[in-house]
Amino acid sequence: MDRLYKLAEGLNRRYPNGNAPYQIATRLAEECGEVASEVNHFEGSGIKHLKGAPSKENMAGELKNVMSCVMQLAIYYGVQEELERSIDASLNLLRSQGLID
Ligand SMILES: [Mg+2]
Repeated sequence: MDRLYKLAEGLNRRYPNGNAPYQIATRLAEECGEVASEVNHFEGSGIKHLKGAPSKENMAGELKNVMSCVMQLAIYYGVQEELERSIDASLNLLRSQGLID
């Protein structure tokens, strides 16, 4: 999480004029579409086909882009602690259900 927040902070400084919440949310939607495109590439599904073999590096890059946007929204709304608590609550629930260690 700390590395993702650091990444988001750096992107906010690099693009100081593109960090209104609607701009971040728009980028998030766009990046989710790029993840979907990579999924289609791996699964051989979808209408538009990417060239070449599916690449783990490309998939990881698109997932990182999604996570960066999520972190930018968390920073914008100052919900980092709430996000941590939400993750902890979900982990605790899954643990209590014996689904994870
Ligand atoms: Mg992307």
